[in-house]
This record gives sequence, C-alpha cells and structure tokens, in this order.
Amino acid sequence: MHQIILTTRVIILLTMCLWPHSSLLAEETSITNKQTNKIQTVKNQARENQAVILMYHHFGVSKHPSTNIRLDQFEAHLDHLSQAGYQIWPLVKVAEYIQKNQPFPTRIAAITIDDAYLSVYTEAYPRLLKKSWPFTVFVATDGVDRQYRSYMSWQQMREMKNNGVTFANHSASHDYLIRLKQGETNQQWQDRVTEDIYRAQKRLKIELGEAPKLFAYPYGEYNTKLANIVNEMGYVAFGQHSGPAGIKGDTRALPRFPMAEKFAELKDFKQKINSLALPVEKQTPWEPTVDQNNNPPKLEIKLANKSDMKLGQLACFVSNQGRVAVEWLNQQKTQFSVQATTPLPTGRSRYNCTAPSSKKGRFYWYSHLWVLSSTRDSPNRD
Ligand SMILES: [Zn+2]
Repeated sequence: MHQIILTTRVIILLTMCLWPHSSLLAEETSITNKQTNKIQTVKNQARENQAVILMYHHFGVSKHPSTNIRLDQFEAHLDHLSQAGYQIWPLVKVAEYIQKNQPFPTRIAAITIDDAYLSVYTEAYPRLLKKSWPFTVFVATDGVDRQYRSYMSWQQMREMKNNGVTFANHSASHDYLIRLKQGETNQQWQDRVTEDIYRAQKRLKIELGEAPKLFAYPYGEYNTKLANIVNEMGYVAFGQHSGPAGIKGDTRALPRFPMAEKFAELKDFKQKINSLALPVEKQTPWEPTVDQNNNPPKLEIKLANKSDMKLGQLACFVSNQGRVAVEWLNQQKTQFSVQATTPLPTGRSRYNCTAPSSKKGRFYWYSHLWVLSSTRDSPNRD
C-alpha cells in the first residue's frame, strides 16, 4: 500500500515535472518544424536581393546613337528576357519592394523609357504590347505641351495608358535641375525645382488621370539637396548610373542600366540583366558633386558583408579612363577606396565596380555618379 502511494506520488510528481516540459518540447518541435518548412519554402522559391531596371530613350533612331537602341538589339533583349524566364514587373511594384526591403523572386526586371519620344509609340509600344509587358515612360511635360514633333502627343499616351502603360514624372522643363540659374539664390532654386516637379505631376494627372510617385532625374543628374527635395515630395527617384536596384538601395536615386547602341549588345545585356547588387553598407561621399579643389574625388565603400563575392577580382573603372586600382582599407577586406588617376572632366562621370560571385556567370555591380559643374555654375552645396 505504502509502495503504491509512493509510486503514485512519483508518477504525479514526474507528470508534473514532465508535463509542462513535454508540452514545451512539443511546442518547440512544432516551431522547429514550422521554421524548417519556412526555410524549405524560401529555398523552393529562391529570393534575390535585387531587380534590374532597364532604361531606354529612342528606338531605331540612328541619328541619336548615344541614346538610341537599334530595333534588332531591342528585339534581341525582349527575346532573351522571354527565353531566360524573366518576369517583367511594373516599376511601381519594384519600388514598393525596395521601400519595404523585401526580397524579390528570381529574375525580376522592369522596363523604363525616358523622355516620351515618338519612337516609343511607333516602335517600343507595339513590341511590348505584343508581350503584354508593363513599362513606365518618364515624361518631361513641357516638350509634350509645346507639341514638339519628336515627342508623343497626350492622345497617343492616353491610348497607351488605356493598354496598361505607366507614365511618370521627369520634371516639366527637363532642365539640368541641380544647376543654379544666373543670380539665383539657393531658396529661389529650391522653389523653382519644386514647382518644376509639381507642375509635371499636375500635367500628367490632368492629361492621363493619374501618375504614380516615381521620378527620373533629367540626364540622371542629382545632388543631395535635390534628392532630398524629391524624397520629401514623396517620390521614389531613379538615376542613370548603372547597376541592379538592390532591396537596400537608396530610394532617392536608384540605379538603372542605360541601354544605348554601344552598351546594348546581347552579350553585355545578358551580363547586366543577371547582375547582383553589391552589398554596400555605406558610400562616402554619397554626394555626386565633385569639389573643384578635390578632383579626382576619392570614393570609399563599406561592404555590408562579404557575401560570395570573389574579392580578389573586384575591378573598378572610371568613365573614359579605364580600370583603376582598388585600395583595400582593412584586413578583412570589407572596406575599399577607389580614385580616378586624372581629374574628372566637366559634366557627368562614373566609377563602376564589378566582382564575380561564386554563382557561375553572375557579377556584383555598383556605380557611383559624379557631376562636375563648370565654374559658372554654383555647385549648390551648403
Ligand atoms: Zn530625359
């Protein structure tokens, strides 16, 4: 009897001790299963840290070789995107993912076209319509309002919009927005560029009914002050410096790959569309304006992590100067600097850096814009 009571007590005690524990264990197992399932789901639907945004201007207009793409090149791009299984997303959706730092599915690209030239309507639109692919045209509205012959009309754009094409803000004037007009104060400059962007948005809304809050800098030119104005107005903004748009990218100036005759052959295109965003944690300076007294500028990059980048093969190039040396700033090789060998010329220049990844044929890619104003322009810095 005594033994029975003792055994019962032991059982009760053991149950008391084990019950909550086993319940916890069960819960832990269930969490682990959930996590494993989640990891497996993520593995099954591989995720990417970037999408590629393509930028075009003219189509089949050979008199503008620096901004034109030949039709055979454009068709080769579209065929490759289809054959390689890319999904073409509206730019708005790409922007939303970046705003939320949300990883992309694999092979996501967006198509953008700057300036609303007539060949968008006559050449690009029918080809993209056939594919049922979305695309975004950045319109500088003054040129359309003045009915310049090289531009599409509002009527043509309305027709395209009814078939799913997006039209967005490229300023009204298409000025070099970062430059001060003669005698202009910083405040007057700020008021003018704000009005310019506001006016374009208003015209798009009046003519087309709506316009998303997307902005493309004319000539891809921006500085910190302009980028902050555009950002405060609520826009996600795009430059013309190359590279994939990473989920950690700065929505004040996301990169796009410019596609013009010289840089748009299929071999180059395949590499660009397949590129990976260099995991940059910090770039110093962010400001693109080059100080006349500090030319060529030095760019310092802090990498967020090493990822699977082949660091020994990191290569940086300066526009019109070719390859320049990379200087590693720490032993772990997470920070490096790059500097052109001779001063940058007036206008826009870029530093481009690429490094192969361990994934066959895929390259990390990063580009930094520099703008050197001529002496008569104020550089517009505080
Ligand atoms: Zn433009």
